[in-house]
Parts: sequence; structure tokens; C-alpha cells
Amino acid sequence: MQLSVYRGRFAPSPTGPLHLGSLVTAVASYLEARTHNGEWLIRIEDVDSTRVMPDSSRKILHALESFGMNWDGEVVYQSQRHASYQAALAELNKNGLIYPCACSRREIADAAVMSIEGPVYPGRCRNGLSSNLAGRPHTLRVKTECSQIEFVDHLQGKVDQCVESEIGDFVLRRADGIYTYQLAVVVDDAWQGMTHIVRGVDLLHSTPRQIYLQKLLGYKTPAYLHLPLVVNKQGEKLSKQTLAAPVDLTRPLPQLVATLRFLGQNPLDELVEGDITSFWQWAQANWQAERIPKGNRFINEP
Ligand code: GLU
Repeated sequence: MQLSVYRGRFAPSPTGPLHLGSLVTAVASYLEARTHNGEWLIRIEDVDSTRVMPDSSRKILHALESFGMNWDGEVVYQSQRHASYQAALAELNKNGLIYPCACSRREIADAAVMSIEGPVYPGRCRNGLSSNLAGRPHTLRVKTECSQIEFVDHLQGKVDQCVESEIGDFVLRRADGIYTYQLAVVVDDAWQGMTHIVRGVDLLHSTPRQIYLQKLLGYKTPAYLHLPLVVNKQGEKLSKQTLAAPVDLTRPLPQLVATLRFLGQNPLDELVEGDITSFWQWAQANWQAERIPKGNRFINEP
């Protein structure tokens, strides 16, 4: 199959309904794809079945449709992709790159140095499980030797991270058998031929881990653009945990216009009075990714 030059995606976790924060990511990824004559795919990231909220995938897809955002191809569900994640683990295992770890959180916290995302795994099980840990449930971790990763994010600029010293050997399969986000996202972005990733800046520090895995698995690295986050009055990212309100499906236009403003664009006030088709025509004709500001901010709720 001939791949289009630009293939992007929106990859929501179905842990709750779409809110204005996730709408920002959907709109920016959609406009970036469409203004590059690219494809825009949807992947439902339901790999962590313990966090899935029933019916939330259907509601997210329905909300995207109500907001006039049409995706290409079939929706992919990570819950149906376990065999591919297992195959990637087998590939890494063949090359001696993963190992079982039976440390508890407490044991790691007691022995670890703290870094950007919490304790850096101190490597206790890297050379084999000690006999007193042998019967415990175990995670699978990837070795992070030689893991200095540098990339240029289209909005946030240069990022340089040594995964080994700043994150440590990270988990690819949890002790309860669930494949982690870091593994699933890398396998799926490669399998789906993604060329451009547009998502929230909260994932900026995950990107070196993903590029590291791409290198180990022989995958290409896509381009990245990490967006500012919508925060509430307490400065917290809008999310299910911070009780963000779902988008209001009865009045898409004011929310779409507010989303464009958040993204640094200058939509005309009249767009609120028009229809969805005219909104998207205007948005595509006038979209300028260079105008997106870097900083996390409130959104002026319509
Ligand atoms: N599923 C993640 C989320 O909803 C996004 C992952 C990604 O875009 O890589 O926050």
C-alpha cells in the first residue's frame, strides 16, 4: 500500500468522556493532518483494561462525529492488539534486551534516585532475579544502556534525555500481564505507519523512551509536536481525575472556536453563528501551527 506522506492520529484513552483538553489535541492533530493533505486515524488506547470506563469509546467517537471530525479507515482498539505487543516482546527477548523484575514499588523507592518521573529504576533485577524474589509476580523491563536520545519537537524544541539515568530500565509488561502504554504506543504507531505525532506536552518526557524502543525494534521515528495543556484554575491538567466537564454535544461551534483560540489561531466571531462545514473550511484555510503558544493555560470556556 502506498502511504500518504503525512499520517497522523488521535489516540484517546477511554477512561472518560471527551473534554476540552482532549478536544484541543483532537483538533490540532486533525488540522495538522488535513492541512498536509494527510490521513487522520483514530486509535482507542484501551490497553489498560483496569482504567477503561464502559461506553467511553463509543461516546468519544460520537463526540468527534458531532464536532464534524471525520477519520480515515477503521478505528483501531489496542485491546485487540495483544498478539502484536507479545511479538515485540519476543523480538526484544531474542536480543537479550528485556528481563523479569520482581521488585515492589517500595523496594524501588527505597533504593532509587528521584528524577523527572519519579524513582529511576536502580537495576536490581537486571542480572537475574535473586532466589528470594523468584516466586513473586514479575514485570518485564527493557534494558536502557546506551540510551542518550535527542530529538527536535516541532513546538517545544530540542529534547535531550539519557533514558538510563533519567528514567531507568522501564516496564513493558506489568506484573498483572497488562502491556504498558510505552510498548503499545510504539508498536502501534509503527504498525499504522504514523509519520507525525501531535499530542499533549505531558508526554514530552515519554518520547525519548518511545524513540529508544523504536530503535531497538528497528522502527522509523515519526515527527513530534507536543501541544500545551489546558489547565483548570488550580493549574491541573483537565482530566477525568480533575473532574473535567465533558464537551457539550449540543453546541459544538463555541467550543471549537474556543479551542482554535487556545491554539493561538484567530477565528472570526461569526464562525459561532455558522455551521460546522464552514467552521472547518475556515479552520483549514487559516491554520498556522507556528502560532500555537508553548505554555499550558486556561481555556476561555464558551
Ligand atoms: N492515550 C493517551 C492519552 O489519552 C495519548 C497517547 C499518545 O498520544 O501517544 O493521553
